[in-house]
Amino acid sequence: MKTAVDPELCTGCELCVETCPEVFEMDGDIAMVKVDTVPEDAIDCCKQAAEDCPVEAISVEE
Ligand code: SF4
Repeated sequence: MKTAVDPELCTGCELCVETCPEVFEMDGDIAMVKVDTVPEDAIDCCKQAAEDCPVEAISVEE
């Protein structure tokens, strides 16, 4: 699975980093994806982070 953060939408609330630190990290004021492919054991938290993002900046692709 792949995921991405839209830097135009991200408000830097850090929720995704708290929810799924295996996949997301802060890059200054916005979140970024730090992995090329989401590891198997981080798929659930990645999907959760995408669902919880208040501005729907996280996309996931199976
Ligand atoms: S949860 Fe959404 S708005 Fe918040 S830091 Fe992550 S991508 Fe940005």
